[in-house]
Amino acid sequence: MKLEGIHHVTAITGDAPGNVDFYTRVLGLRLVKKSVNQDDPTVYHLFYADETGSAGSDITFFEYPGARRGRAGRGMVHTVVWRVGSADAVDFWQERLTREGLEAARDGDRLTFADPEGLGLEIRLVETGDEPLVAVHPDIPAAVAIQGFDGVRAYTGDAETSRAFLTDTLGFAPGGESGFEVRGDRRGSFYAYDEVAGTGWPGAGTVHHVAWSSLPEEHQAWRDRVADGGGRPTDIIDRYYFKSIYFREPSGVLFEIATIGPGFTTDEDVEHLGERLALPPNYEHLREQVEKVVTPLPDPRADWAVR
Ligand code: ZN
Repeated sequence: MKLEGIHHVTAITGDAPGNVDFYTRVLGLRLVKKSVNQDDPTVYHLFYADETGSAGSDITFFEYPGARRGRAGRGMVHTVVWRVGSADAVDFWQERLTREGLEAARDGDRLTFADPEGLGLEIRLVETGDEPLVAVHPDIPAAVAIQGFDGVRAYTGDAETSRAFLTDTLGFAPGGESGFEVRGDRRGSFYAYDEVAGTGWPGAGTVHHVAWSSLPEEHQAWRDRVADGGGRPTDIIDRYYFKSIYFREPSGVLFEIATIGPGFTTDEDVEHLGERLALPPNYEHLREQVEKVVTPLPDPRADWAVR
């Protein structure tokens, strides 16, 4: 039984319109689902991914309108790393991000920057046999587009406290830059630590949790294994697009294990992903009220036809 790399990464935004603009127009990801927070249907849960909404490419945001900026500290993911497929692609992104007025620091084939709310991001050249998970964008040739996650870096007070749980229970393989490889039969990602003494606080521009991919038929077994390893998982929660369990790894980072599928085409055709407000079935009868209170957002692809 192996986890198939990162499923999704979920972070916090205080500015949904700015968030949509940055992740779709600037980074070229596709808004694949415009849903609401299942605990508070007056605010969004936004999902950006490749063209079909694949696990392994999906960064999601809880909207807390006007939320103050947080800061990553111990027990929090601080940087999300994406792959591109060539050195030309790194050049492309350096130029594109600079043109957008963002500070992008180049170190060889890596480019580190932050989103408009301070979330740490990196684009790096990765040679891999994993399928490139790419979205379509009129200004970004497919050859240089972002190809899905490569990994995440988290802060810990002491990386050793997590080692046994990550390797023995979750099957992470030690390797590379104080990190671990999380690889299944289809796909892999890395998980790495940087040691830091300070505590952070949640808020806009911070990561809430990272989810790892499980085959649907192994999900219950993963829950059992996490429980046996002392991970205190939640019950299995049906998130409609996938099933999930949540637990904290020993360094304090909130982990989720989510099933690959049924996926985002469960309630929308792939051609129309993300265009309409998607409500969980138990909120569907409230659609009229909810549509009136959520922050108005543009359709990121509305002007494509005329370009
Ligand atoms: Zn999640």
